[in-house]
Amino acid sequence: MLSEFDLIKKYFDQPLPDDANIALGIGDDCALLSPNVGMQLAISCDMLVSGRHFFPDADPYFLGHKSLAVNLSDLAAMGAKPLAFTLALSLPEANPDWLEPFSRGLFELAHQHQCRLIGGDTTKGPLNICITVFGELPIGSALKRSAAKVDDDIWVSGQLGDARLALNAYLNEIELTSDQLSIASQRLHRPSPRIALGLAIRDIAHAALDVSDGLIGDLAHILKASQVGASLMVDQLPIGDMLQQQSLQTQREISLAGGDDYELCFTTPVHARELIIAAGIASKTQVTRIGKVEAQSGLRLLDNNLQTLNLKLHSFDHFTAP
Ligand code: ADP
Ligand code: MG
Repeated sequence: MLSEFDLIKKYFDQPLPDDANIALGIGDDCALLSPNVGMQLAISCDMLVSGRHFFPDADPYFLGHKSLAVNLSDLAAMGAKPLAFTLALSLPEANPDWLEPFSRGLFELAHQHQCRLIGGDTTKGPLNICITVFGELPIGSALKRSAAKVDDDIWVSGQLGDARLALNAYLNEIELTSDQLSIASQRLHRPSPRIALGLAIRDIAHAALDVSDGLIGDLAHILKASQVGASLMVDQLPIGDMLQQQSLQTQREISLAGGDDYELCFTTPVHARELIIAAGIASKTQVTRIGKVEAQSGLRLLDNNLQTLNLKLHSFDHFTAP
């Protein structure tokens, strides 16, 4: 039987490379971070709860990846560079068959972004994974939700909707071929945090956030914080082949309100269009212009003929969802 400390040592206490920003990692009462002069820490925390955010029998390798990915996505949306993270873990049992792949999925992504695990807490209980990430950015340069300006272009990264397609297929609400399901479920289980894009647009964009609960619901947060409105060109949203094969209604619903995309939605001054396209190329991330910020409050959904669409959509909310 693994003790709490054996478990931490074996699965989570990895040697830290020389890193000027991390003065002390796992093992003491606190870790110590040393931010560079002129930099601010960007901090975010996301919890994944069994039965709420993932199925209780979910693949632990994917869970390790996703629990860090959703946190890194928040750093990306602020334009921050990842430094370190902590992991608070509640586990029903110390099961190596779960811990080994979980730790592998977690550290693979952590290494990819040079984000170091510097501490945490481990307890017995219902499966619950809570990560806090620490990133840095030059003081005053964060991409805040409140910074959108009237006439800004609105952009989104990557493609929308495939994660939701996978979820709907698991719930038997739509049918996908097994090849399609394997592509869609990669998008659901292994989102790629858009760190490189966040850094590339940081000095160009005004407002940004990551799309986790569905594009329109998340964009509404920017509009509210910035006290502006917007129009979206619904049929120009970037969607993949799989979603294009669904009915127009399904395409619109899932791209606008699907959730779990972990793409960036951001606003930029019109004169910066070419800079944003260059930032997309430099960060190897698709970027698509999808609408405009306007002075009139509210969100208008337009088709390609600029006709207003009356779609009944709602994005995800933990306390109003069934
Ligand atoms: P404390 O008694 O101060 O709360 P703990 O005994 O919980 O410390 O943890 C011992 C050390 O192991 C601490 O440095 C803590 O940050 C680290 N730690 C505990 N659980 C984890 C975990 N799941 N991942 C990474 N580090 C952890
Ligand atoms: Mg503790």
